[in-house]
Amino acid sequence: MGSVALNGKCFAFVGSRPQGALCRAMLTLFVFLAAFAGINCQPVCAAEPIKTLDYKMAGDATHMRIVMNFDREPEPKWFLLRSPHRLVIDLPDATIAIDAKDLKARGLIKSVRYGASGEGASRLIVTSKGPFNVDKVDVLKNEDGSGYRLVADISAASDREFDAALAIQAETTGSTVSTAKTDRLSKIAHRGDRPFTIVLDPGHGGIDGGAEGLNGTVEKSVTLAFAKELKSKLASNSAYKVVLTRENDEFLRLDDRVRIARQQEADLFISIHADTIRLKGIRGATVYTMSDKASDADAQALADRENLSDQLAGVDVAEENHEVSDILVDLIRRETHGFSARFARSLVGELSPTVGMINNPHRSAGFKVLKAPDVPSVLVELGYLSNPQDEEQLRSSDWREKAATSISKAVAAFVAERGVPGG
Ligand SMILES: [Zn+2]
Repeated sequence: MGSVALNGKCFAFVGSRPQGALCRAMLTLFVFLAAFAGINCQPVCAAEPIKTLDYKMAGDATHMRIVMNFDREPEPKWFLLRSPHRLVIDLPDATIAIDAKDLKARGLIKSVRYGASGEGASRLIVTSKGPFNVDKVDVLKNEDGSGYRLVADISAASDREFDAALAIQAETTGSTVSTAKTDRLSKIAHRGDRPFTIVLDPGHGGIDGGAEGLNGTVEKSVTLAFAKELKSKLASNSAYKVVLTRENDEFLRLDDRVRIARQQEADLFISIHADTIRLKGIRGATVYTMSDKASDADAQALADRENLSDQLAGVDVAEENHEVSDILVDLIRRETHGFSARFARSLVGELSPTVGMINNPHRSAGFKVLKAPDVPSVLVELGYLSNPQDEEQLRSSDWREKAATSISKAVAAFVAERGVPGG
């Protein structure tokens, strides 16, 4: 019986009858004995549940970190729920009180709810925008001695990955097993029977119109029309699955575009744009890939303009640097970068004879929309709306058809080279 008091379970009964009196007596006895034995009984004897001191979350639509501070060490258990995709964290010996402002939806997380799930026990339910992976749920001791913190990291994933995690959960009722990181690598190595998935991303949309041509052509309309044309061209090959990040004139955050690519387990991501440049004489298409250091000043300026999209739409984009310093992620990123560059070269090769290109048509800069570490990604500037001839072409369905055919050929070459179905 002594162990009942020692492991803390006794406290659930404190105040309730008939065990209350017995429990209090045991507690008094234990405190007395502990004092005698010189044991520090602080964590054991507190007659109250563990307190949640605060709750914070940070990140974007692809990665989120949740941090909760506690006065003592909690023993969380977590599990996943579907429809909608949720992470449930049970805290069997803690109470939760969180400032409502800290629960405001952000990034991948759509809502957070919590409540009592028994005497002295609580449950936190985190609802996500879509399927996700639980990268880790850890409890760590705060270095400054102020208690303990729970750290949960989740990242956007596909339904297939979420279902796989649910299946593991069903087998291991303890449900504290997270998907191993190696699964992410094997995803690249073994694609199984999935079709080759291409996500096309029509730039801008909704309140963010993008660039505007001399004759009033708006970038967001050109990019959508072109993406639809390219989709129908690609979809004629049944080995491909083609998905648009947006089908209508709607605003989409940059990280949401990346999230969609990851959700679809995209094998290729093509963001489509048609911007403007100071020099009206400059015309032609350009293919951009991601790099930390821009290839040239113009590429840097363009990436800066494109990355402004979220701010233009009034989205709160407090820069949360979520670069994962993980050797495995770095490896994946490097491999992905190689594929992106290979596809960019293939695109330049196909577009050059049919569609005019600018000088040095393969350039690179830090585009946020190209940041998925595991999806080969390029951004195509179809032409410049600041140039009257380019603007004219971009409005022509014949020209769009021609350019879409060239891009389809580049996709086919890329698929063939990777040796996957559909080549
Ligand atoms: Zn643009």
